[in-house]
Amino acid sequence: MRKPLVMGNWKLNGSKDMAKSLVAGLRSELSNNTACNVAIAPPVVYLDFVKHQLDGSNIILGAQDVGVNLSGAYTGEVSVEMLKDIGVTHVIIGHSERRTYHKESDEFIAKKFGVIKEAGLVPVLCIGETEAENEAGQTQAVCARQIDAVIKALGVQAFNGAVIAYEPVWAIGTGKSATPAQAQAVHKFIRDHIAKQDAKVAQQVIIQYGGSVNDKNAAELFTQPDIDGALVGGASLKADAFATIVKAA
Ligand code: 13P
Repeated sequence: MRKPLVMGNWKLNGSKDMAKSLVAGLRSELSNNTACNVAIAPPVVYLDFVKHQLDGSNIILGAQDVGVNLSGAYTGEVSVEMLKDIGVTHVIIGHSERRTYHKESDEFIAKKFGVIKEAGLVPVLCIGETEAENEAGQTQAVCARQIDAVIKALGVQAFNGAVIAYEPVWAIGTGKSATPAQAQAVHKFIRDHIAKQDAKVAQQVIIQYGGSVNDKNAAELFTQPDIDGALVGGASLKADAFATIVKAA
C-alpha cells in the first residue's frame, strides 16, 4: 500500500513573514493528519528558516532544485550535501519551468537524480508533456523518454523510494487541471512502463499529479488508483486550501 505524498511547491514566492504564518496555519490544520505524507518546498533562501518553523511537526522539508556538484568552484550553486545538512529530505528536479527557462536536459536531470540518491535523499522527478506534444499524441512518448533518461543513467532500481510527479505543462498555473481519467491513464502508463523493467519498483513508486490542483478538484483526482498525492503550486500558498488538499488524500 503506497502512502500518498502531497507536496507544496512555493516556486518563487514567499518571505519570512509569509513562511511563518503559512507554516503555523498548516501545523494547526494538519495536527491530526497521518493518512498521507506532507511536504513543503520553499525557495532555497528560506529553507533553514522554515526548518525551524517545522520543529516538532511531521511536515517534510523539500527543496525546489539542486546543483549536480558537491563542492568547489561553482559560484551560485547549492549542493545536495548542503540541503541535507539543514534537514531537507526531498528534492524536486526536472520541473518544466527549469526544463524550459534553464534549458535543463533529460541527461542533466538524471545526473541530479543520481546525486540526490547518492546522498540518501528522495528525488521528486517532474515529467510531463507540453500542450503541443499533447495535441500531437506524444504524451506517452515524452513521459517515457524523461523516465528512460534516469533508467539509462542509473538503472530502474534508482526509482526505489523515489517520487515521480506527472505535471502536464498545459495544466500548470492555467486553472485547467487534467481530468481524473486523463491523469489516471498517464499515471498507469508510467507505472506500467517502469513495471516492464521491474514490477516491484513500479508498485512502490509514488506518482503524484501536478497542474492546477486545488481544494475543489483534489478529492476526485485522489480517487484514481495510480494517483498517489499531488505536487501543488498556487494552492500551496494558502494554508486552508493546502490543508483541504492534504485531507482529501
Ligand atoms: P499549479 O498548482 O500552480 O498549477 O502548479 C503546479 C506545479 O507546477 C507544481 O510543481
